[in-house]
Amino acid sequence: MHQKPDPDAMGSSLALAGFLSQLGHNIAVISPTNWPDFLKWMPGCRNVVDFEAAKEKALSILDSAEWLFCLDFNAMHRTKHMAQKLKELQCVKVLIDHHEQPETASFDYGISLTSKSSTSEMVYDFIVGSGKAELINQDIASCLYAGIIGDTGSFRFPATSSDVHRMVAELKNKGLQHSIVHENLYDNFLEDRLRFLGHVLLYRMEVFYEYNAALIAIPKSDLLKFNVRTGDTEGLVNYPLSIQGIKLAGLVIDRDEERKWSFRSKGDFDVNTFARTYFNGGGHFNASGGRSADSLQKTVQAFKNAIKENATQLQ
Ligand code: 5GP
Ligand code: MN
Repeated sequence: MHQKPDPDAMGSSLALAGFLSQLGHNIAVISPTNWPDFLKWMPGCRNVVDFEAAKEKALSILDSAEWLFCLDFNAMHRTKHMAQKLKELQCVKVLIDHHEQPETASFDYGISLTSKSSTSEMVYDFIVGSGKAELINQDIASCLYAGIIGDTGSFRFPATSSDVHRMVAELKNKGLQHSIVHENLYDNFLEDRLRFLGHVLLYRMEVFYEYNAALIAIPKSDLLKFNVRTGDTEGLVNYPLSIQGIKLAGLVIDRDEERKWSFRSKGDFDVNTFARTYFNGGGHFNASGGRSADSLQKTVQAFKNAIKENATQLQ
């Protein structure tokens, strides 16, 4: 899965692991980095190896692997410090992913479908396609459902097809308790996180009505003041999009090693291209990310210049 996994990355990986282990395979799930607390309820999450925290263990698993499944990322660099090792491995590498422009040369086999709502939907298709749908149990169903609601914004984004709804109906037949999954993901924060959200919306958001764009820039001091932890900034970038008329939202966080960007858009503004062109990133048409080595102030200025350059597409 990609670094700092979200519900889809973690959910698709754990679901595939749950399926393959029932077929008698010896499976390990590795995350390139740690993950948010709101994913820790997921069945199987306790056994996930954090590459940064348990590097020796992860390396020895990788060295003995015959097959490597790469889920929910399109290019090896999305696994951060694990990328070099993954490139060197001689085992069979399989990609299952829905991001644009996959780095196909890095994989032996794979399926990359940008029309799919989530990698979790693709893992579901993979299991059904294998003819062993009866192995989808309640645990697998919970993981897949978490990935689906994470990546579809709880069924609102355009990629939410009728297939997605049919899949969820089948998961309900497998014993899925959907409201528990929603609670685990969205009603599982500490007070600090909500106060941080209020602070950010009041003091760190700038709206550019002439370009139908908005920006949230978070300095390091806020992260310290509100004790912000992995996952606490998830979903923040969506708030500006709830303002009438706003088509593009950017969120930049001053992380130690880089300024990390998230972009979201509504309608026909392509943030995959936007992130690739200006911020060394990529992703999907309506949701992408990127990064910058510049200071927070400089990269914010770069965003302001970029929206000016894209004025016609944004209006
Ligand atoms: P998020 O804003 O939630 O971190 O990421 C939004 C989407 O863009 C996700 O699908 C994520 O995988 C992708 N993404 C985020 N950052 C990057 C990046 O730096 N490069 C690429 N290629 N994709 C990214
Ligand atoms: Mn995904």
